Amino acid sequence: MTATSDTTTATTALHSPVIAWFDVHARDLPWRRPEAGPWGVMVSEFMLQQTPVSRVLPVYEQWLARWPLPADLAAEPPGEAVRAWGRLGYPRRALRLHGAAVAITERHNGKVPSEHARLLALPGIGEYTAAAVASFAYGQRYAVLDTNVRRVFARAVSGIQYPPNATTAAERRLARSLLPEEDTRAARWAAASMELGALVCTAKSPDCSRCPVSEQCAWRLAGKPAHEGAPRRGQTYAGTDRQVRGKLLAVLREAIEPVSQAALDAVWDEPVQRARALDGLVADGLVEPMESSVYRLPLS
Ligand code: SF4
Repeated sequence: MTATSDTTTATTALHSPVIAWFDVHARDLPWRRPEAGPWGVMVSEFMLQQTPVSRVLPVYEQWLARWPLPADLAAEPPGEAVRAWGRLGYPRRALRLHGAAVAITERHNGKVPSEHARLLALPGIGEYTAAAVASFAYGQRYAVLDTNVRRVFARAVSGIQYPPNATTAAERRLARSLLPEEDTRAARWAAASMELGALVCTAKSPDCSRCPVSEQCAWRLAGKPAHEGAPRRGQTYAGTDRQVRGKLLAVLREAIEPVSQAALDAVWDEPVQRARALDGLVADGLVEPMESSVYRLPLS
């Protein structure tokens, strides 16, 4: 057997156990139900980037109840999307989702497109989200590389504890080479490998005793060597501009009327950092300055 066929055999051997495990252990999440449709999948993918499922669930339910179709969201000002985003964090995602809804309404008759290239052409949709929607909503064959999948592949196939901080070309190649040939099975594999990373092969405490591929896992078989790559990025929040932005935006979200500078000043003592955070929100289009130092969520 050649090295290539060795690798191919090793990787395809992962499919059946991971998919069989998923058949039994997949969480019943609202965006996985048939009634979610492509729009529900798209909303969930925007929300789940960098945010855990438990925090996404209530916001997702409210969002879909209020805006069951892209056209419903597109009909409202972008500030309403920012308001409804609540405390999910990284609120530019709300603006991007609103922009995508407008484009879907204008270009695609209100229907989320199924073709990967058309998804990718929507504003605010990158390679990851286009692949995720094509795979999860339309059952197509795409490598969907989120942090959970990358970690599973790093350990089970590459034999390292953590993937690099940013996705590399080598990881993309590996993910493509791991894709089952048939569309439906490839889509199932994408969802299953992601769930395995979320529930079993977690970042801090992988539960190898419950893992369906523990017998084949390269990292486990190598004795779980310690991480040697670049230090992993931390998730510090307290004291950062992100925290200040979150506090400023919370005031605006909760206000019906535009908000005065004084009300915003009350949320953070340090004036330089506070001004920088507010400037950043304005520059990102999340906050609209009005005359006489009054601010509101964006209307257009
Ligand atoms: Fe992750 Fe352990 Fe499974 Fe390897 S055996 S993929 S480290 S949970």
